[in-house]
Amino acid sequence: MTANIRVTIWNEYRHERRSPEVAKIYPEGIHGTLAKALSEKGFTVRTATLDEPEHGLTDEVLENTDVMIWWGHMAHPEVRDEIVQKVYQRVLDGMGLVVLHSGHFSKIFKKLLGTDCDLKWRETNDKERLWVVAPGHPITEGIGDYIELEHEEMYGEPFGIPTPETLVFVSWFTGGEVFRSGCCYTRGQGKIFYFRPGHETLPTYHNPEIQLVISNAVRWANPTATRKLIRGNTPALEK
Ligand code: ZN
Repeated sequence: MTANIRVTIWNEYRHERRSPEVAKIYPEGIHGTLAKALSEKGFTVRTATLDEPEHGLTDEVLENTDVMIWWGHMAHPEVRDEIVQKVYQRVLDGMGLVVLHSGHFSKIFKKLLGTDCDLKWRETNDKERLWVVAPGHPITEGIGDYIELEHEEMYGEPFGIPTPETLVFVSWFTGGEVFRSGCCYTRGQGKIFYFRPGHETLPTYHNPEIQLVISNAVRWANPTATRKLIRGNTPALEK
């Protein structure tokens, strides 16, 4: 079943090409690391990046994507509005979307959530402990009480998001902050999962537990019962 899920991993892919420090951790790009991990788990994976024509998100790619993963940071404003609109419509029509880390400020995430999505942050290599607060949720399958990351960027509350439909993870940081770090939403027929970890200067996406959560999220967000909706002027069913 997993093999039938078609995943498109979208990455801005700028930090990796500009910073030797980041390139050392992600020589094939963040998308390359995630693509390898998800391929090994049996998903059908393709990647797309900002500097490709249409940001790699042609109509053909969008139509053949069940779940999209999104990582962006320094170039959110460069993502063209007409492409964002197409991704937005695909989510409403049922495509799953997994938004990672600094993707909280992406155009697509803010458009879907409708809030400013702002937060506190600090790059001091805090330890992060992600507590599972929804045990039994499919996204936590195979994860124990918590995931511990020795070093991560801190994100802190208040996070400017609508109240999640299901809150799956809450993070604690050594600096004392907490953060809603795994959040489920539905928009139209599409499922959305926001997952916090993944700062570009740290090897977070090589972590097997982080890879497991992302693959669980892809399976959870995979559209199952979507259909073309009937809208507009409609004849009565009864005489
Ligand atoms: Zn970051």
